[in-house]
Amino acid sequence: MLIDLRSDTVTQPSAEMRTAMAQADVGDDVYGDDPTVNALQAEAARLSGKAAALFLPTGTQANLVALLSHCQRGEEYIVGQHAHNYKYEAGGAAVLGSIQPQPIEADPDGTLPLDKVAAAIKPDDIHFAKTRLLSLENTIGGKVLPLEYLQRAWQFTREHKLALHVDGARIFNAAVALDVPLKTLAQYCDTFTICLSKGLGAPVGSLLCGSEEFIQRANRWRKMTGGGMRQAGILAAAGLYALEHNVARLKEDHDNAKWLEQQLSNIGLEIVEPGAQTNVLYVRQSPELAAKLGPWMREQGVLISSGPVTRLLTHINVSRQDLQKVVILWQAFLQQHA
Ligand SMILES: *Cc1c(COP(=O)(O)O)cnc(C)c1O
Repeated sequence: MLIDLRSDTVTQPSAEMRTAMAQADVGDDVYGDDPTVNALQAEAARLSGKAAALFLPTGTQANLVALLSHCQRGEEYIVGQHAHNYKYEAGGAAVLGSIQPQPIEADPDGTLPLDKVAAAIKPDDIHFAKTRLLSLENTIGGKVLPLEYLQRAWQFTREHKLALHVDGARIFNAAVALDVPLKTLAQYCDTFTICLSKGLGAPVGSLLCGSEEFIQRANRWRKMTGGGMRQAGILAAAGLYALEHNVARLKEDHDNAKWLEQQLSNIGLEIVEPGAQTNVLYVRQSPELAAKLGPWMREQGVLISSGPVTRLLTHINVSRQDLQKVVILWQAFLQQHA
Protein backbone atom coordinates (compact mmCIF):
# COMPACT_ATOMS: atom_id res chain seq x y z
CA MET A 1 0.00 0.00 0.00
CA LEU A 2 1.34 3.41 -0.96
CA ILE A 3 1.45 6.12 1.67
CA ASP A 4 0.08 9.17 -0.10
CA LEU A 5 0.63 12.55 1.56
CA ARG A 6 0.11 14.68 -1.58
CA SER A 7 -3.47 15.60 -0.71
CA ASP A 8 -6.57 14.55 1.18
CA THR A 9 -8.31 14.21 -2.19
CA VAL A 10 -6.61 10.83 -2.64
CA THR A 11 -8.71 9.09 0.03
CA GLN A 12 -10.36 5.81 -0.96
CA PRO A 13 -13.94 4.88 -0.09
CA SER A 14 -14.02 2.26 2.67
CA ALA A 15 -15.79 -1.08 2.36
CA GLU A 16 -18.65 0.26 4.52
CA MET A 17 -18.97 3.37 2.36
CA ARG A 18 -19.03 1.22 -0.79
CA THR A 19 -21.77 -0.90 0.73
CA ALA A 20 -23.81 2.22 1.44
CA MET A 21 -23.28 3.29 -2.17
CA ALA A 22 -24.27 -0.08 -3.58
CA GLN A 23 -27.45 -0.14 -1.51
CA ALA A 24 -28.55 3.44 -2.22
CA ASP A 25 -32.06 4.10 -3.48
CA VAL A 26 -31.76 6.24 -6.59
CA GLY A 27 -33.89 8.25 -9.01
CA ASP A 28 -33.38 10.95 -11.62
CA ASP A 29 -32.00 13.90 -9.68
CA VAL A 30 -32.63 16.38 -12.50
CA TYR A 31 -36.32 15.68 -11.82
CA GLY A 32 -35.60 15.97 -8.10
CA ASP A 33 -36.46 12.29 -7.81
CA ASP A 34 -33.33 10.88 -6.20
CA PRO A 35 -34.19 10.09 -2.58
CA THR A 36 -30.55 9.72 -1.53
CA VAL A 37 -29.48 13.03 -3.07
CA ASN A 38 -32.49 14.64 -1.41
CA ALA A 39 -31.53 13.09 1.92
CA LEU A 40 -27.94 14.32 1.59
CA GLN A 41 -29.07 17.84 0.72
CA ALA A 42 -31.51 17.83 3.64
CA GLU A 43 -28.81 16.60 6.00
CA ALA A 44 -26.38 19.32 4.86
CA ALA A 45 -29.09 21.93 5.40
CA ARG A 46 -29.87 20.52 8.85
CA LEU A 47 -26.22 20.40 9.94
CA SER A 48 -25.48 23.89 8.65
CA GLY A 49 -28.66 25.64 9.73
CA LYS A 50 -29.16 26.86 6.16
CA ALA A 51 -32.53 26.45 4.48
CA ALA A 52 -31.28 24.40 1.53
CA ALA A 53 -28.32 22.64 -0.06
CA LEU A 54 -27.33 21.43 -3.52
CA PHE A 55 -25.19 18.41 -4.40
CA LEU A 56 -22.60 19.07 -7.11
CA PRO A 57 -19.90 16.96 -8.76
CA THR A 58 -16.91 19.04 -7.59
CA GLY A 59 -15.87 21.85 -5.30
CA THR A 60 -14.76 23.88 -8.30
CA GLN A 61 -18.24 23.67 -9.78
CA ALA A 62 -19.82 24.45 -6.41
CA ASN A 63 -17.74 27.64 -6.15
CA LEU A 64 -18.45 28.54 -9.79
CA VAL A 65 -22.19 28.02 -9.38
CA ALA A 66 -22.08 30.09 -6.16
CA LEU A 67 -20.30 32.97 -7.91
CA LEU A 68 -22.68 32.79 -10.89
CA SER A 69 -25.63 32.83 -8.50
CA HIS A 70 -24.34 35.80 -6.48
CA CYS A 71 -22.95 38.01 -9.25
CA GLN A 72 -24.22 39.18 -12.63
CA ARG A 73 -22.09 39.94 -15.67
CA GLY A 74 -19.99 43.06 -14.94
CA GLU A 75 -20.09 42.58 -11.19
CA GLU A 76 -17.20 41.57 -8.96
CA TYR A 77 -16.20 39.54 -5.92
CA ILE A 78 -13.43 40.42 -3.49
CA VAL A 79 -11.26 37.41 -2.80
CA GLY A 80 -7.84 36.41 -1.45
CA GLN A 81 -4.88 36.51 -3.82
CA HIS A 82 -4.23 32.83 -3.07
CA ALA A 83 -7.81 31.69 -2.70
CA HIS A 84 -8.83 28.53 -4.53
CA ASN A 85 -11.76 30.25 -6.26
CA TYR A 86 -9.48 32.97 -7.57
CA LYS A 87 -6.25 31.19 -8.35
CA TYR A 88 -6.96 27.50 -8.81
CA GLU A 89 -10.23 27.33 -10.74
CA ALA A 90 -8.96 28.33 -14.17
CA GLY A 91 -10.60 31.75 -13.98
CA GLY A 92 -14.02 30.15 -14.34
CA ALA A 93 -16.04 33.04 -12.91
CA ALA A 94 -14.42 35.47 -15.37
CA VAL A 95 -14.50 33.09 -18.34
CA LEU A 96 -18.01 31.74 -17.90
CA GLY A 97 -19.74 34.46 -15.88
CA SER A 98 -18.03 37.71 -16.95
CA ILE A 99 -17.55 38.21 -13.22
CA GLN A 100 -14.47 40.20 -12.25
CA PRO A 101 -12.38 39.01 -9.33
CA GLN A 102 -10.83 41.70 -7.12
CA PRO A 103 -8.02 39.85 -5.35
CA ILE A 104 -6.42 41.25 -2.21
CA GLU A 105 -3.52 39.99 -0.09
CA ALA A 106 -4.52 37.96 2.95
CA ASP A 107 -2.99 38.44 6.39
CA PRO A 108 -0.65 35.66 7.59
CA ASP A 109 -3.53 34.03 9.50
CA GLY A 110 -5.52 33.61 6.27
CA THR A 111 -8.05 36.37 6.98
CA LEU A 112 -8.71 39.17 4.50
CA PRO A 113 -8.18 42.40 6.46
CA LEU A 114 -11.49 44.23 6.44
CA ASP A 115 -9.93 47.68 5.99
CA LYS A 116 -8.36 46.41 2.75
CA VAL A 117 -11.67 44.86 1.74
CA ALA A 118 -13.38 48.20 2.44
CA ALA A 119 -10.78 50.02 0.32
CA ALA A 120 -11.41 47.59 -2.56
CA ILE A 121 -15.19 48.14 -2.64
CA LYS A 122 -15.99 50.23 -5.73
CA PRO A 123 -18.23 53.30 -5.51
CA ASP A 124 -21.37 53.29 -7.63
CA ASP A 125 -19.82 54.90 -10.71
CA ILE A 126 -20.02 53.92 -14.39
CA HIS A 127 -16.24 53.40 -14.45
CA PHE A 128 -16.36 50.47 -12.08
CA ALA A 129 -17.61 46.95 -11.82
CA LYS A 130 -20.27 46.57 -9.12
CA THR A 131 -18.86 44.98 -5.98
CA ARG A 132 -21.30 42.28 -4.89
CA LEU A 133 -19.59 39.67 -2.82
CA LEU A 134 -16.84 38.91 -0.35
CA SER A 135 -15.45 35.40 -0.70
CA LEU A 136 -13.46 33.80 2.14
CA GLU A 137 -11.86 30.37 2.39
CA ASN A 138 -11.97 28.21 5.53
CA THR A 139 -9.65 26.43 6.14
CA ILE A 140 -7.04 28.15 4.00
CA GLY A 141 -3.61 26.54 3.73
CA GLY A 142 -4.74 24.44 6.70
CA LYS A 143 -5.43 27.52 8.82
CA VAL A 144 -8.71 28.05 10.60
CA LEU A 145 -10.29 31.51 10.32
CA PRO A 146 -10.95 32.76 13.87
CA LEU A 147 -14.62 32.80 14.88
CA GLU A 148 -14.26 36.39 16.02
CA TYR A 149 -13.08 37.32 12.49
CA LEU A 150 -15.99 35.48 10.85
CA GLN A 151 -18.35 37.42 13.06
CA ARG A 152 -16.72 40.75 12.12
CA ALA A 153 -16.67 39.86 8.40
CA TRP A 154 -20.37 39.01 8.60
CA GLN A 155 -21.18 42.31 10.30
CA PHE A 156 -18.98 44.14 7.79
CA THR A 157 -20.74 42.63 4.78
CA ARG A 158 -24.16 43.52 6.28
CA GLU A 159 -23.03 47.13 6.68
CA HIS A 160 -21.60 47.31 3.16
CA LYS A 161 -24.46 45.42 1.51
CA LEU A 162 -22.22 42.65 0.21
CA ALA A 163 -23.04 38.96 0.18
CA LEU A 164 -20.59 36.66 1.97
CA HIS A 165 -19.57 33.32 0.49
CA VAL A 166 -17.19 30.87 2.14
CA ASP A 167 -15.26 28.29 0.17
CA GLY A 168 -15.54 25.63 2.83
CA ALA A 169 -13.91 22.75 1.00
CA ARG A 170 -12.38 21.88 4.40
CA ILE A 171 -14.90 23.66 6.64
CA PHE A 172 -15.41 20.51 8.73
CA ASN A 173 -11.69 20.58 9.52
CA ALA A 174 -12.25 24.11 10.82
CA ALA A 175 -15.31 23.08 12.86
CA VAL A 176 -13.49 20.10 14.37
CA ALA A 177 -10.37 22.16 15.14
CA LEU A 178 -12.51 24.77 16.92
CA ASP A 179 -14.68 22.05 18.48
CA VAL A 180 -17.87 23.77 17.36
CA PRO A 181 -20.80 22.47 15.28
CA LEU A 182 -20.91 23.39 11.59
CA LYS A 183 -23.81 25.74 12.35
CA THR A 184 -21.57 27.99 14.42
CA LEU A 185 -19.43 28.69 11.35
CA ALA A 186 -22.28 28.69 8.84
CA GLN A 187 -24.23 31.39 10.70
CA TYR A 188 -21.62 33.95 9.57
CA CYS A 189 -22.08 33.57 5.81
CA ASP A 190 -24.84 33.65 3.22
CA THR A 191 -23.56 30.64 1.34
CA PHE A 192 -20.78 28.10 1.66
CA THR A 193 -19.44 24.94 0.09
CA ILE A 194 -18.35 21.61 1.57
CA CYS A 195 -16.07 19.07 -0.16
CA LEU A 196 -17.11 15.51 0.56
CA SER A 197 -14.21 14.11 -1.44
CA LYS A 198 -11.31 15.35 0.72
CA GLY A 199 -10.82 14.52 4.38
CA LEU A 200 -14.38 13.20 4.62
CA GLY A 201 -13.35 10.32 2.39
CA ALA A 202 -16.12 10.22 -0.23
CA PRO A 203 -14.97 9.52 -3.79
CA VAL A 204 -16.87 12.41 -5.42
CA GLY A 205 -19.02 15.38 -4.52
CA SER A 206 -19.47 18.77 -2.97
CA LEU A 207 -22.35 20.66 -1.43
CA LEU A 208 -23.43 24.28 -1.74
CA CYS A 209 -25.55 25.56 1.14
CA GLY A 210 -27.68 28.71 1.35
CA SER A 211 -31.20 30.10 1.35
CA GLU A 212 -34.05 28.37 -0.45
CA GLU A 213 -34.20 31.11 -3.08
CA PHE A 214 -30.41 31.08 -3.62
CA ILE A 215 -30.28 27.30 -4.03
CA GLN A 216 -33.10 27.45 -6.60
CA ARG A 217 -31.03 29.89 -8.64
CA ALA A 218 -27.93 27.77 -8.12
CA ASN A 219 -29.79 24.71 -9.40
CA ARG A 220 -30.33 26.45 -12.76
CA TRP A 221 -26.62 27.31 -12.99
CA ARG A 222 -25.71 23.77 -12.03
CA LYS A 223 -27.82 22.50 -14.93
CA MET A 224 -26.33 25.07 -17.32
CA THR A 225 -22.76 24.17 -16.37
CA GLY A 226 -23.46 20.49 -16.92
CA GLY A 227 -23.67 19.43 -13.30
CA GLY A 228 -27.21 18.02 -13.35
CA MET A 229 -26.58 14.34 -12.68
CA ARG A 230 -29.13 11.55 -12.96
CA GLN A 231 -28.98 8.56 -10.56
CA ALA A 232 -26.51 10.47 -8.41
CA GLY A 233 -27.76 8.84 -5.22
CA ILE A 234 -24.96 6.29 -5.64
CA LEU A 235 -22.54 9.16 -5.01
CA ALA A 236 -24.71 10.98 -2.49
CA ALA A 237 -24.81 7.80 -0.39
CA ALA A 238 -21.05 8.09 0.06
CA GLY A 239 -21.51 11.70 1.15
CA LEU A 240 -24.21 10.77 3.66
CA TYR A 241 -21.99 8.03 5.02
CA ALA A 242 -19.11 10.51 5.29
CA LEU A 243 -21.20 13.09 7.18
CA GLU A 244 -22.27 10.44 9.64
CA HIS A 245 -19.00 8.60 10.19
CA ASN A 246 -16.03 10.68 9.06
CA VAL A 247 -16.43 14.12 10.61
CA ALA A 248 -15.42 13.63 14.25
CA ARG A 249 -12.44 11.49 13.22
CA LEU A 250 -10.86 14.50 11.43
CA LYS A 251 -9.36 15.23 14.86
CA GLU A 252 -7.16 12.18 14.34
CA ASP A 253 -5.82 13.72 11.11
CA HIS A 254 -5.12 16.98 12.94
CA ASP A 255 -3.31 15.17 15.76
CA ASN A 256 -1.33 13.24 13.15
CA ALA A 257 -0.32 16.46 11.39
CA LYS A 258 0.88 17.95 14.68
CA TRP A 259 2.78 14.76 15.46
CA LEU A 260 4.37 14.66 12.00
CA GLU A 261 5.35 18.29 12.24
CA GLN A 262 7.12 17.65 15.55
CA GLN A 263 8.92 14.57 14.24
CA LEU A 264 10.09 16.23 11.01
CA SER A 265 11.29 19.21 13.00
CA ASN A 266 13.20 16.81 15.30
CA ILE A 267 15.12 15.34 12.36
CA GLY A 268 16.19 18.84 11.34
CA LEU A 269 13.65 19.84 8.71
CA GLU A 270 12.37 23.40 8.53
CA ILE A 271 8.64 23.67 9.06
CA VAL A 272 7.02 26.66 7.34
CA GLU A 273 4.84 28.49 9.87
CA PRO A 274 4.94 25.80 12.58
CA GLY A 275 1.82 25.01 14.57
CA ALA A 276 -0.35 22.96 12.20
CA GLN A 277 -3.97 23.74 13.07
CA THR A 278 -5.61 21.06 10.96
CA ASN A 279 -4.35 18.41 8.51
CA VAL A 280 -1.89 20.45 6.44
CA LEU A 281 1.79 21.25 6.99
CA TYR A 282 4.54 22.70 4.87
CA VAL A 283 8.25 21.79 4.88
CA ARG A 284 10.97 23.93 3.34
CA GLN A 285 14.04 22.32 1.78
CA SER A 286 16.68 23.18 -0.80
CA PRO A 287 15.54 22.86 -4.43
CA GLU A 288 18.35 20.33 -5.05
CA LEU A 289 17.24 18.02 -2.24
CA ALA A 290 13.58 18.54 -3.11
CA ALA A 291 14.19 17.34 -6.68
CA LYS A 292 15.77 14.11 -5.37
CA LEU A 293 13.39 13.48 -2.49
CA GLY A 294 10.22 12.96 -4.55
CA PRO A 295 11.51 10.09 -6.74
CA TRP A 296 13.42 8.59 -3.79
CA MET A 297 10.29 8.49 -1.62
CA ARG A 298 8.26 7.08 -4.49
CA GLU A 299 10.65 4.12 -4.69
CA GLN A 300 9.96 3.48 -1.01
CA GLY A 301 6.20 3.62 -1.58
CA VAL A 302 5.63 7.15 -0.31
CA LEU A 303 4.01 9.80 -2.51
CA ILE A 304 4.75 13.46 -1.75
CA SER A 305 4.67 16.57 -3.94
CA SER A 306 8.29 17.33 -3.18
CA GLY A 307 9.36 20.91 -3.89
CA PRO A 308 11.21 23.77 -2.23
CA VAL A 309 8.05 24.05 -0.13
CA THR A 310 6.43 20.65 0.23
CA ARG A 311 2.81 20.48 1.32
CA LEU A 312 1.94 17.37 3.32
CA LEU A 313 -1.61 16.36 4.20
CA THR A 314 -2.82 13.79 6.66
CA HIS A 315 -6.09 11.96 6.05
CA ILE A 316 -8.22 8.92 6.74
CA ASN A 317 -5.95 6.56 4.77
CA VAL A 318 -2.72 7.49 6.59
CA SER A 319 -2.13 6.00 10.02
CA ARG A 320 0.32 7.09 12.71
CA GLN A 321 2.32 3.99 11.82
CA ASP A 322 2.51 5.11 8.17
CA LEU A 323 3.76 8.49 9.34
CA GLN A 324 6.35 6.83 11.55
CA LYS A 325 7.63 5.07 8.44
CA VAL A 326 7.76 8.36 6.52
CA VAL A 327 9.82 10.01 9.27
CA ILE A 328 12.30 7.12 9.35
CA LEU A 329 12.63 7.20 5.56
CA TRP A 330 13.04 10.97 5.46
CA GLN A 331 15.78 10.78 8.10
CA ALA A 332 17.56 8.07 6.07
CA PHE A 333 17.30 10.24 2.97
CA LEU A 334 18.83 13.22 4.80
CA GLN A 335 21.67 11.04 6.09
CA GLN A 336 22.38 9.70 2.61
CA HIS A 337 22.42 13.22 1.16
CA ALA A 338 24.24 15.03 3.98
C1 LIG B 1 -10.18 21.19 -3.29
C2 LIG B 1 -10.71 22.53 -3.12
C3 LIG B 1 -11.75 23.01 -3.93
C4 LIG B 1 -12.44 22.24 -5.01
O1 LIG B 1 -11.81 21.19 -5.52
P1 LIG B 1 -12.41 20.11 -6.51
O2 LIG B 1 -11.23 19.28 -6.80
O3 LIG B 1 -12.95 20.83 -7.68
O4 LIG B 1 -13.47 19.36 -5.79
C5 LIG B 1 -12.19 24.30 -3.70
N1 LIG B 1 -11.65 25.05 -2.74
C6 LIG B 1 -10.65 24.63 -1.95
C7 LIG B 1 -10.12 25.51 -0.89
C8 LIG B 1 -10.15 23.35 -2.12
O5 LIG B 1 -9.16 22.93 -1.33
